[in-house]
Amino acid sequence: AVDASWVRSWLDRSAAMIAENRQELIRLDREIGDGDHGENMDRGFQAATSKIADAADDANPADLLKLVASTLISTVGGAAGPLYGTAFLKAAGAVSGKDSLEPADIVDLLTAARDGIVLRGKAEVGDKTMVDAWSLAVDAAADAANAGADVASVLAEAARAAEEGAAATEPLVARKGRASYLGERAIGHRDPGAQSTALVLRVAADTAK
Ligand code: ADP
Ligand code: MG
Ligand code: MG
Repeated sequence: AVDASWVRSWLDRSAAMIAENRQELIRLDREIGDGDHGENMDRGFQAATSKIADAADDANPADLLKLVASTLISTVGGAAGPLYGTAFLKAAGAVSGKDSLEPADIVDLLTAARDGIVLRGKAEVGDKTMVDAWSLAVDAAADAANAGADVASVLAEAARAAEEGAAATEPLVARKGRASYLGERAIGHRDPGAQSTALVLRVAADTAK
């Protein structure tokens, strides 16, 4: 099981991971969007990690995830701000009141995050958005948990699948977001939001090891 300290480290290390990949996310978004995804995410995750540092010592996972949600909503902007914000808000709701998260809780957290993004953005799998990474991650996490995997292995499976989902956006035409205006010109380019999702879930897994 993991607890609030996992959420704290996850966010700290995600901020570092996003900062390291800022240019790469900008490059991906320049190809099929407006080039600001790296900047948006970097600003949001830096703000989230500093909010978390100030959170009460006894904050539980849901308290921290809620704090991340409101910070991302108010600082990221663009399409990704409300989408990631909703993801973290729904993730918080899924683990409300719990101090310790078991494999089934991690599946619930990821499922709620994905469902929140879908509710907000109305994208389906295959529309070449972050939903492609989140959905594969949810399915892989659920399979791993059903097979009896521990939290670290459930998150490792989610991260691996998210990376696969991000890569799978490359040959697609986009049906949501700015890239949808490009038609076939989006083919051959990876969706930036799917890539940032893969990074954040990679860190979630590495933090639980
Ligand atoms: P903006 O497009 O407003 O500049 P960002 O560049 O920060 O915002 O984020 C773009 C990412 O948001 C895309 O790569 C995609 O993954 C995601 N996205 C955009 N629209 C949607 C949607 N309707 N549903 C899910 N994800 C979306
Ligand atoms: Mg953009
Ligand atoms: Mg923008």
